[in-house]
Amino acid sequence: MAIGDILSPFDDPSLARQLLRTIELLAEHIGRDVRIMEVCGTHTMAIARSGLRSVLPSSVHLLSGPGCPVCVTPQHDVDVIIALARLDGVVLATFGDMMRVPGSTTSLQKLRAEGARVEVVYSPLDALELAAADPHAQVVFAGIGFETTAPTTAVTLKRAREKGFSNFSLFCAHKTVPPVLEQLAADERVRVDALLLPGHVSTIIGSEPYAFLPERHGLPGVIAGFEATDILQGIAMILRQIDEDDPSIEIAYARGVQPQGNPTARAAIGDVFETCDANWRGFGSIADSGLSIRSSFGDLDAMRRFSPDVEPTAEPEDCRCADVLRGIIAPEACPLFGRVCTPEHPVGPCMVSSEGSCAACHRYEALRKGGR
Ligand code: SF4
Repeated sequence: MAIGDILSPFDDPSLARQLLRTIELLAEHIGRDVRIMEVCGTHTMAIARSGLRSVLPSSVHLLSGPGCPVCVTPQHDVDVIIALARLDGVVLATFGDMMRVPGSTTSLQKLRAEGARVEVVYSPLDALELAAADPHAQVVFAGIGFETTAPTTAVTLKRAREKGFSNFSLFCAHKTVPPVLEQLAADERVRVDALLLPGHVSTIIGSEPYAFLPERHGLPGVIAGFEATDILQGIAMILRQIDEDDPSIEIAYARGVQPQGNPTARAAIGDVFETCDANWRGFGSIADSGLSIRSSFGDLDAMRRFSPDVEPTAEPEDCRCADVLRGIIAPEACPLFGRVCTPEHPVGPCMVSSEGSCAACHRYEALRKGGR
């Protein structure tokens, strides 16, 4: 593809050409393969949609990591959400991406078809409105997401408390991004040379929490926006750091991210949640990588209120989502990709979510290659 083909109306074509030329020169000067991992589902989709890989020098490799919050939610937690949705009198409210994620034996979408009350919402505040509209129902919101969505969930819990809701609760599966990056940075099997850091998460946490990447692992990291030009700029800045052997954390998305992040949003998170160890699909338990509900809000914890019976966990057979999320394999290397597992019949969450690597690859890159 030509550079002009990958640009959106929001991109500046002459800037994009200039950045691509800079990338080509830096890649040539570095003279070896460079593996850059993006850890943001929106980046994953933007890269696949634009066809950006096709214009980069062959020595610059973009890998997708654990940037999709639905995809990293472990099978057991999917089963817990399904168990909550099965309870009499419960209305399970969740984001649309969760509906088709296969649990061990069923999905929320199938449960709804069988009569369970499962509602798609765009915000946890919508779930609170459901509770206000139906005082006889117990509304449970499934809180999935990184630092980007956790503040809104926190504000919702505070509002539920202020307004005295007794029919609203939260299943909390929120996670935080820096601890999983620490694992990836130390993973010999992945061998990442640099990280393209998430724009949305960083609007909340700023740039400081990533300082361990250059300090402890010698890895560059650049926070980037979401247009093709933004991503090209992020890649150019990463290559310059590698070329000069001067790793640091930089912001290529200054219109969205301040170094200090958003202290108000972080304070809301801190009021309601505390850090805890959390299980991630593909990674297992990662210390201090999750958010749990503080005891002062414990009465709004769905697990404490309902203690649902959860069926034994069964991982989808032959699904390689764990390796895809770690960047060990590309989606197309999964033997089920495009054959058994498709967006219409997903086997694993990476093919379901609008931010999943397998969905992005199937929707844009595999089709572009004329494969499927
Ligand atoms: Fe899992 Fe399907 Fe992706 Fe394979 S293609 S890793 S089965 S989601």
